[in-house]
Amino acid sequence: NTRIVLAARPKGAPVASDFRLEHTPMPTPRTGQVLLRNRWLSLDPYMRGRMNAGRSYVAPLEIGETMDGGTVSEVVESLHPAWSPGDLVLAHAGWQTYAVVDGETLRRKLDPAGLPVQTALGVHGMPGFTAYVGLHEIGRPQHGETLVVAAASGPVGATVGQIAKLKGARVVGIAGGAEKVAHLRDELGFDVALDHRAEDFAEQLAAACPDGIDVYFENVGGKVFDAVMPLLNDFARIPVCGLVAHYNATAPAPGPDRLPQLMAMILSRHLTVRGFIQHDFIALYPEFVREMGRWLRDGRIRYREDVVVGLERAPEAFIGMLEGRNFGKLLVKLDS
Ligand code: NDP
Repeated sequence: NTRIVLAARPKGAPVASDFRLEHTPMPTPRTGQVLLRNRWLSLDPYMRGRMNAGRSYVAPLEIGETMDGGTVSEVVESLHPAWSPGDLVLAHAGWQTYAVVDGETLRRKLDPAGLPVQTALGVHGMPGFTAYVGLHEIGRPQHGETLVVAAASGPVGATVGQIAKLKGARVVGIAGGAEKVAHLRDELGFDVALDHRAEDFAEQLAAACPDGIDVYFENVGGKVFDAVMPLLNDFARIPVCGLVAHYNATAPAPGPDRLPQLMAMILSRHLTVRGFIQHDFIALYPEFVREMGRWLRDGRIRYREDVVVGLERAPEAFIGMLEGRNFGKLLVKLDS
């Protein structure tokens, strides 16, 4: 068995030496457990939080622990009545080639004849569900409203923009670089696509939102949020989903302190700013799986994947994702 463990807590952006590849004996299942062979591993921004000491919305990993993460896995051996060898399942089996987990923790069985199984880690899984519930419960885009979303070529942002289009909203997507911007416009059908790295990004955003912003789906923070703030309409909704621009920060951003201004704006513009973790709305998961499955089969929602092959490449790919080097849902295909 091969696995990747947390070797050191990153200081700022993670580096290769924060991870260590190890070979360990093959684990054996006990009653109620299954032995899994991981086929696909999902790399997600929340994993950066798990590498830190101290509480975030996910508990920290210990040094020497296997990096965790969602997987599409094959059941090799089962001592649990619900699962049989050969089943393909959605699991949380981490950065390793084989894993033993409790049969109870397996999330769902996947149909190899249905949608590509790895979509259960992206558009048809946790990131897609995040987009779905953030809009359904908080953003609530209405016909003709303007919605803005950044990290818009990633699995959350791309899905947010496309669902908002299905609801009749006008969508402004933001991404890093010309290739991603063209993808938002030409493949995903967003009304406007902007590059957040442009010098005059704030002016471009203002020009793209002549009627202001009704929903800002917050994935990034940083200077995108700065540019969005003055454009927010009365009663705008801000689902606070992620702040990836700050995940590698080691100190508070330099002043001046703008918190009083922000609070005054929340008050005077009647804003709804609500943080959420997708799991808060887990009761909607079965409905999401059905509805998103339909949208995907009908071609109404599209998705893009960025696949790296081989577990040993996971650290480098993960480090790159935090800097925008991924283009689409980042997945590791395990070749063991
Ligand atoms: P992505 O695949 O979109 O990867 C992250 C992207 O963030 C990068 O590709 C990069 O894209 C963008 N980015 C990085 N730094 C900056 C920056 N300084 N300014 C603007 N954009 C930046 O990831 P996901 O779709 O998986 O996740 C998107 C967000 O959703 C994350 O914040 C994540 O933490 C959050 N999330 C929250 C969940 C919840 O339950 N609340 C669940 C799942 C995800 P680009 O090149 O376009 O800049």
